[in-house]
Amino acid sequence: MPELPEVETSRRGIEPHLRGQTVSNVVVRNRALRWPVARSVDRNLSGATITSVERRAKYLLINTASGSAILHLGMSGSVYVVDKGTPAGIHDHVDIELASGRTLRFRDPRRFGSLHWSRKPLQHKLLAKLGPEPLGDDFSGQYLWQTSRGRRVSVKQFIMNAHVVVGVGNIYASEALFMACIHPRRAAGRISVERYERLARSIKTVLGNAIKAGGTTLRDFYGGDGEAGYFQQQLEAYGREGEPCRRCDTAITSIVQGQRSTYYCKECQT
Ligand SMILES: [Zn+2]
Repeated sequence: MPELPEVETSRRGIEPHLRGQTVSNVVVRNRALRWPVARSVDRNLSGATITSVERRAKYLLINTASGSAILHLGMSGSVYVVDKGTPAGIHDHVDIELASGRTLRFRDPRRFGSLHWSRKPLQHKLLAKLGPEPLGDDFSGQYLWQTSRGRRVSVKQFIMNAHVVVGVGNIYASEALFMACIHPRRAAGRISVERYERLARSIKTVLGNAIKAGGTTLRDFYGGDGEAGYFQQQLEAYGREGEPCRRCDTAITSIVQGQRSTYYCKECQT
């Protein structure tokens, strides 16, 4: 599944092809995505000039002066740029054709992705209630500490809650807690502000490293085969059950929390 770093890398990969371009035509071959693609998307996007491509959580916002297309890659989606007229494959559901002669193509084999139009995308129902961006300045240890007071949920589930902070997927949560030496089952409301400062820094580092890895293994967004690229990451705890902790040599333990696997060191995560 594309996580925040993959979506951010996609944004960086496609934006140079889209910014300043006028949309000459929109082709929707299959409207049956996670939610039906409304005709207002094609109608509003056609003829509009793209001013920028932004990311909010795992949504790509293709911005124009009159509103934005909100694209989610779902479980298996990807975006790539092809020359106009390149034959579409069976899973290529949407083409956004540009005056430059290039086309932004959305491929989604499992069709859990979505495409909406909104005049005020940040107030759209999918985005309005999301927590802060983990890499933004308003995400901090102080914020996590304040938000967690009185919360008995485990800290791992707390930081994976998109109302608290967006984009901290299962692997990233596991890795950040390992880095911050915090036990994944500890109650969110029983962690000091100092430890939350360390956790916020760890989340930023883990996600930042993944984006950097994406930048170095950047698949070709133009003329590529449209296959979703997943980043090779150096994992310190995740997937290392039974292997020695890199800090203290204790075997890494695996537990299940909220149906997701967590890997941690029972010696140095407290
Ligand atoms: Zn350890």
